[in-house]
Amino acid sequence: MLMSEKWIDEMDESRRTGSFFIFITGGIMSSLGKGIASASIGTLLQARGYAVRMKKLDPYINVDPGTMSPYKHGEVFVMGDGCEADLDFGHYERFTGLQCTANDSLTTGKIYEKVLAQERRGDYLGSDIQVIPHITNEIKRFIMDGHELVDFTICEIGGTVGDIEGLPYIEAIRQLRIDLGVFRIACIHLTYLPYLKTSEELKTKPTQHSVKLLQSMGVQPDIILCRSEKDINDDIKTKLSMFCNVKKENIVAALDVENIYLVPHKYHLAGLDRQVCDHFGLLDQKLEKLVEENIKEKWVNIEHAICTPSKTVRIAVVGKYTKLKDAYISLSQAINHGAIANEARVEIYFVDAKKSSQNLEDELCNVSGILVPGGFDSSGVEGKITAIKFARENKIPFLGICLGLQLAVIEACRNVAGVKDATSREFSDEGEIVIDFMNSWESDGLAEFRLPSDNKGGTMRLGSYRCKISGDSLAYKIYGATEITERHRHRFEVNIKKYRELFEIAGLKFSGMSMDGLLPEIVERRFHPFFIATQAHPEFQSHPFAPHPLFTSFIKAAINYSTIPLFQCAPQC
Ligand code: GLN
Repeated sequence: MLMSEKWIDEMDESRRTGSFFIFITGGIMSSLGKGIASASIGTLLQARGYAVRMKKLDPYINVDPGTMSPYKHGEVFVMGDGCEADLDFGHYERFTGLQCTANDSLTTGKIYEKVLAQERRGDYLGSDIQVIPHITNEIKRFIMDGHELVDFTICEIGGTVGDIEGLPYIEAIRQLRIDLGVFRIACIHLTYLPYLKTSEELKTKPTQHSVKLLQSMGVQPDIILCRSEKDINDDIKTKLSMFCNVKKENIVAALDVENIYLVPHKYHLAGLDRQVCDHFGLLDQKLEKLVEENIKEKWVNIEHAICTPSKTVRIAVVGKYTKLKDAYISLSQAINHGAIANEARVEIYFVDAKKSSQNLEDELCNVSGILVPGGFDSSGVEGKITAIKFARENKIPFLGICLGLQLAVIEACRNVAGVKDATSREFSDEGEIVIDFMNSWESDGLAEFRLPSDNKGGTMRLGSYRCKISGDSLAYKIYGATEITERHRHRFEVNIKKYRELFEIAGLKFSGMSMDGLLPEIVERRFHPFFIATQAHPEFQSHPFAPHPLFTSFIKAAINYSTIPLFQCAPQC
């Protein structure tokens, strides 16, 4: 069967099993909060009783963001199945409680990889492969995949309308409106209304242009989200409605807020979920009261918890991507969840690990907890080790994550056991390599193998792994379980096979081990009020409504260490 005939068959099938599709595009510029808008739509539709699925289509040519620098692209989010994905998936999971999978994340690189493999196999024999229909068909197939299992498939299109890489995605949406019928699709466009201080007004022209660009590609937005620092008045709505060909009620304000967890309720108050349901003919006035209650139970309550803390605690994150907030987004969120669980407000103090030892120690004097996050390569490593030593010696609560665990092991070997050249294979081939490259490990009974010469993309120990926790440990007190599952993303491991005795002399206790008992997963110190590090990334599993126990306990320990009077800190709401 020709590929085009196969596609027609799939379309017919989908018409019979009708569910709805929402596309979120962005205009004018990046960083307007498209991911948070998408996640908010997801959670608001859930509050209305609908099952949703969140997908993201990223037009860049990388197969996934795994090889990109956090400075270029922000954090790389890791899903349970090991997919390295855009940080927006973190928002989706945290807002909706869903577990996303590799089947929810698409990039141009992934599509071309698939299409080219099909071409080599001979699937397109006789035809020339073109962006339309071959690439657009693959995009449509990805969008449609699994739609029958949910009521709404919510697809965020990465980048900004007008980007050259994004054109096939907009084209796929245009075609889907015809394939599926306009009534099954809503296009939501997020734009920006700049506020001109001199004339004291919000300007609509950039939005008009951005919508025109979208229309010129055959896509008419149904709803416009207007991000702005000032409220949009009726005149602006009327003007945008007229020039953008969108119903006035569907011009929705997206005001700046201080905390992302205030966004879903703000969107609800601005009428977003009501207008989405109205668009699909799903609005049922009788249910509105119940919807209000559902939203209140979740989002208004969390707003209250965030805005009325009883104490403040300052945590230092000693890392190297300290200048870009997005580089540690899941981590910052998890720290905040831990604070909310302790009725506290947290001030995260990002400390650049590349500073001199003395400057670092001076900065760490004012904090109640020190966290060394994940990271790659040797830059800033000595500063992180200084911070760990400072936490160990001064009994300041310490949490190490992934590279943070590896460096806690190196620090103890160097400064407690006196092995000055202890290091990791990642930084050097000389010295005592206490953190080394492992060729194989077990994943749920199956062996996985790696070689140092393997490709860099997608070859780390990735995704969820189970871990055994020993009963008599801080880890057990924190997790309250002897078996846990955490997400991983790293290439190197603690070499316990060779250095078990040295680690004992260094005072390290491995309280969490991989299921086969070979790889250390959690390390802690006795005779310290709170010193724990994990080889995994617990931040990816922390949710505002289910804070991760490691973060909750870390913040609690930091509060016990000392807190700062509330009035000394900037208000957050
Ligand atoms: N660079 C270290 C490794 O690959 C740690 C990675 C991380 O912190 N995610 O093992």
